[in-house]
Parts: sequence; structure tokens; C-alpha cells
Amino acid sequence: MAAKILVSDDLSNEGVEILRRGGLEVDVKVGLPADELKKIIGQYDGLAVRSATKVNADLLGAADRLKVVGRAGVGVDNVDLPAATKRGVIVMNTPGGSAVTVAEQTFAMMLSMLRHVPAATASVKAGKWEKKKFQGREAAGKTLGVIGIGNIGGIVVQRARAFGMDVVAYDPFSSAEAAARIGATLVPLEELWAKSDVISLHVPLTEQTRHIVNAQTLAKMKKGSYLVNAARGGVVDETALAEALKSGQLAGAALDVFEKEPPPADHPLFALDNFVCAPHLGASTQEAQEIVAVQLAEQMVAYFSEGEIQNAVNVPAVSKDLLARLGPWLELSSRIGALAGQLAPSNATKVTLEFAGDVSQAGTKPLTNEVLKGMLAFFTQDPVNVVNAQALAKERGLSISEVKLAESADYSSTIGVRLEGDSGSIEVVGSVLGKHDLRIVRVDRFEIDAVPDGHLLVLRNEDVPKIVGKVGTILGDAGVNIGRIHLSRAGKRGEAFSMINIDSPASKQVLAELRAVPHVISVTPIEL
Ligand code: NAD
Repeated sequence: MAAKILVSDDLSNEGVEILRRGGLEVDVKVGLPADELKKIIGQYDGLAVRSATKVNADLLGAADRLKVVGRAGVGVDNVDLPAATKRGVIVMNTPGGSAVTVAEQTFAMMLSMLRHVPAATASVKAGKWEKKKFQGREAAGKTLGVIGIGNIGGIVVQRARAFGMDVVAYDPFSSAEAAARIGATLVPLEELWAKSDVISLHVPLTEQTRHIVNAQTLAKMKKGSYLVNAARGGVVDETALAEALKSGQLAGAALDVFEKEPPPADHPLFALDNFVCAPHLGASTQEAQEIVAVQLAEQMVAYFSEGEIQNAVNVPAVSKDLLARLGPWLELSSRIGALAGQLAPSNATKVTLEFAGDVSQAGTKPLTNEVLKGMLAFFTQDPVNVVNAQALAKERGLSISEVKLAESADYSSTIGVRLEGDSGSIEVVGSVLGKHDLRIVRVDRFEIDAVPDGHLLVLRNEDVPKIVGKVGTILGDAGVNIGRIHLSRAGKRGEAFSMINIDSPASKQVLAELRAVPHVISVTPIEL
């Protein structure tokens, strides 16, 4: 059955067409009130939004089938990420798609601020001709300070160089070489405040960047300098900014974004002539809307048709390449997790994953998520998937560690999971033979060659004759057909361990009969 997508904000026609051509069933219902959206959201596997639809915990609570929320654009402020993650819903955005457009808006605002374009326009329209009043400042030869040189900041740097500006930049996650490559000198933040004639912000809103421009930092800026913010409201303390503009500490400021949008009509900045603003128009060009809609639609089609995860903000990316390379290993991970989960000691508190051989060279996060997904399905009533597995594991107090070994002893690669709890531990190791034959190759100290598929019985017994015969007879009498049986033992006459693939599950009564066979230590039914 085709996955169903709801488009609840304006998305370009081309975006909607790509979704349809990708085999998805699409309903376009723009501008629904929250309660109506909540009534219908349960029918959809995917939701495509821009910034208007509020994807909050209430809506997500009713979204029983939802797997993906796609945001055409960068900021995901309108999506409750922790709630989506907890419910296992992937949230993807389209970074970079509108970067050129936002960089251009930055320049539109900077130049109109330096040249008083909005006030001069109003003046001419009012029948005046005030050439002297609107004398401006030149950008060339000035120092631009760029805070945050990611997608947008990087383009702003390049454009500023073309305007003949010197550029200093601050970004704790960038290097001096990377900054130099785009034409900026990376400097400490203190130096940037002090040196810049114009400062432009291009950071996400985080705990570190909230009010990064405040009364103290405004006081560190050059007297008569300028500020542009086309990033996120909240990175600038607007009350402090109004004070700095009034006092002449800053000569001008331009905001595309506000802490509260729309801002109140009596906002202190609105009374100031040297203040330029726009109603969050940074990404709002025809071209950018087209690009992000197309990008989002392609990402959603890739997810629903191939399982490829691109630009998700709450789960590691799984590209087509990685999927092709890791495909069977992802499946193996989920089954090892499920097997370990069903053999787990009580109150397991610690999971250790060991990736050995070639598989350790790939990105292992998706594999870890698969193991946890498989495992936690047996620990919790909540639906578990790769998106919420880590969050649910942490919520249960499970500590997770990963070990990577360049080589595997007997196989080209293996994945091992060790679960430890109050009453002991269990270790399950698996591998992929050839291209896609999944195998369990060891459980604790027992070397084995079992196929992790369907219904299984894990049998532990003292290693004496006739046990397997008796088990076979009990299963046969109950009409339970044995597909495969894999035996292992720890030394002669020690403990024996077997994994038995059966065609149908064993009933409680059959399990009780098996457990009653003399010398049988335990029988655990497994569903994979
Ligand atoms: P990005 O993730 O590509 O770049 C952000 C950069 O900020 C990164 O290089 C990161 O290392 C840096 N950074 C993070 N914390 C920092 C800190 N404490 N100090 C300095 N640098 C820090 O994001 P982007 O696509 O370039 O977007 C930048 C901003 O623009 C975001 O806030 C985004 O929401 C906003 N945006 C606004 C509009 C608009 O309509 N005005 C449109 C799109 C994006």
C-alpha cells in the first residue's frame, strides 16, 4: 500500500508532483486549524510542512502512523523535536537549500541599512527630497564580522569579499584553514566584537547563542558600528539593542527575525530611524521555496521508497550508499538485538556493542540504533524504532558503549552485543556470510552457526544422550515442525546449547513439557 503524505503548508506544485511521481499518495490541505489537523493526522505516514504548521506533542500524540515530518526549510522551531523523537518520528529538513537566498537577504538588509533605503523611500513618497539627511556609509574597506560560518555564513563571507570588505569570523566548530578558504580570518569572539564595523549573525539558536548580542557584548562593539541578524530571533537581546541604537553606540541595526514573531506593535525598536527590518523573509524567494520543496519531496520519496534517511535532525543519516553497503548488517543488528533482548538477564542496565572487522570502518551509529531497536521491543510497550531507540534506552537507564576492533578473529566482520544485568549477562555475536546470509556465530561461550529468523527455541541442557531425540518427539507430537537445528557444547559432557528453528511457535504446554525433560536446564522461545 502506498504511503500517505499530508502536505499541510504551502509547498510548490513541483514538490507535490515529485511526491506523487515517487509513488506516494498525497493530500494537500493547507492552513487547517489545529483541531482538524489532529483529527486526520492518524491516516498519514508522512507530513510535509514549512513553518506554519505547529507539529507539537498534542498533534504527534494523535499521529499513530506517522514516520516522517519533513520541513521545507532549515529551522525546525515549529516541530517539537523531543516529542517526535520519543514517538520514533524522523524529522528532516532541507539545509543549504535556501542558503544563497538568505545570504542575499543579509546583503539587502545590510546595504539598505548603510544607505537608509527604507527611510529614503518613505521620504520621497511623502514628497520630500532629503539628500543630506540620508547620506550613507560605504561597505568597501570596512570589516565585516561574521558569527557562524556554516551554509549561510560561508556565502555571506564570499559575497562580502566581492564588495571589497575584510572579513573576520568566529565559529567554534570551524578551522582557520576552512575560514581562510572562503576568505575570512578566524578570530576569537572578543576580537570580532572589537574589530568589526558591521556584524552579521548566522548561528542556530542554542543555549550558547541565546542573547549572544546583549548589553555587555554591544558595549564591546566599535562605537558607530552596525548589526545584521537574519539568523534566528533570540540570538539578539532586542531591548539592549534598542538602547544601543538610542545611545549611538550602534549606528544602525537590521533584523529579519524577532524573538517573538510577529513582534508587538509597541516594540521599542520600531520608534528608531536607524532600524531596518523585515517579517522573517530570509528564505522567502520564489527560487528558494522551489528548491527546498523539491529537495524535501526528493528526500521523502527516498525514505519511503528506499529507506534512505537524508538530513534528519534527530537520527543519523543513512545514505543510499551506506544502505547498500550495510543493508544485511542493519538487519543482522536488529535480530541480534532482538535475540539478546529475549535472552536478557533481569534488570539489564548495560549494553556493550562490539563491531569487529570491516563493519567497524563504516558509520556504526545506524547499526547501534538497529541493535537497540531490536532489543528494546522486548523491554517496553512503547513502539520502538531507530529514531527513538537511543532516547528510550536512556530513559530506561541503560548505559550504552561501543567498541570497535579493526579485525575479527574468525569472520571478515562480526557484530557482538553484551547485555549485563542483576542476574548475569548474555552475549550474542553474529555475522553475514557471503552477501546476505545472516548467522548467529556465538552465544556466550557456545560457538554456533544458527539462522536468526522466525520462531526459534534456545535450549540449554546437560550434555547427555537422547535429549535432542526427546525434544524432537515432543515438538513432533505437538505438530511443531523443526526447520533447522544447530548444536553446540562447552566440552564433552559439559553444558550443551542448541538453537532450533521451528515452523510455528511452541505453545505454553509444549514449552512446559520440554522444560520437564530430565537434564534440560532452560528453554527460551524466541521470535525474530
Ligand atoms: P549551519 O548549521 O550551516 O551553520 C551554522 C553555523 O553556526 C555552523 O557553522 C556552526 O558551527 C556555527 N555555530 C554554532 N554554534 C555557534 C556558536 N556558539 N558561535 C559561533 N558559531 C556557532 O546553518 P545555516 O543554514 O547557515 O543557518 C544559519 C542560521 O540562519 C540558522 O539560525 C538558521 O535557522 C537561520 N536561517 C534563517 C532564515 C531566515 O529566514 N532568516 C532562513 C534559513 C536559515
